[in-house]
Amino acid sequence: MNIVLMGLPGAGKGTQAARIVEELDIPHISTGDMFRAAVKEQTPLGMEAKSYMDKGQLVPDRVTIGIVRDRLGKDDCAKGFLLDGFPRTVPQAEALDELTDELNRPIDLVLYIEVAEEELLKRLTGRRICRDCGATYHVLFAPPKVEGVCDRCGGELYQRADDAIETVKERLKVNLEQTQHLIHYYESTGKLHRVDGEQPIENVTESILSLIRGLKA
Ligand SMILES: [Zn+2]
Repeated sequence: MNIVLMGLPGAGKGTQAARIVEELDIPHISTGDMFRAAVKEQTPLGMEAKSYMDKGQLVPDRVTIGIVRDRLGKDDCAKGFLLDGFPRTVPQAEALDELTDELNRPIDLVLYIEVAEEELLKRLTGRRICRDCGATYHVLFAPPKVEGVCDRCGGELYQRADDAIETVKERLKVNLEQTQHLIHYYESTGKLHRVDGEQPIENVTESILSLIRGLKA
C-alpha cells in the first residue's frame, strides 16, 4: 500500500501515522525526516536544499520533488510507504503522480483525517505552560487540578502567543485553503478517503485500518 496521509494541524496525523506504519510495517516518510536524511547523506539535492534552508529561503519544488523521488525509489519502499507532509500543493501532487508512475509505485490511497475547524481550535489553543517550571498542560486533555495553577510547583500557567486563538485561526486558514485544493485534486482521481478524526484515537486507527483491509481485499 502506497499511502498519502493528510490532515490539518491538530487532526492527530502524527499519532495515526505512527500506528499505521507499525501495523503495515512500511516506512513513514515525513518531509522533515526526508530533508534531514538527504542533507546528512550529502546527496546533490540534499546539498542544494541545504543551501536554501541556510539562507532561510523556501526550498523550490524541483528540489523537494527530487528528494521525494530519491526517497521513494529506495528498496524499503518496495513493500509500500506512508507519505506525510507531502504533497502540500496541487502542482506537487501532480509531480508526485508522475514520479510514482515512473517508479511504478503509484499512490493507492489518500487518507484525509477530517476534524471540524471548531474542534481543531479547541485542541490547538488549549495548551498552558507553567511560568516557573515549564510543565505543560492542556485545558481539555491534561488539565491542572486548579485552573491556571501548576500542579507541580504552584506556578502561574500561561498561554504562548503561538497558541492564541487569532494566531491559530490564521495558521489554520492558510492550511485549510491549501488542503481544500488538494482534496479536490485527489477526489478527482478517486483516491481520497475521508476518516472521521473526531472519534476516539483508537477508533480513528481502526477506521483507517479497516479501510486499508477493504482495499487490499
Ligand atoms: Zn510549575
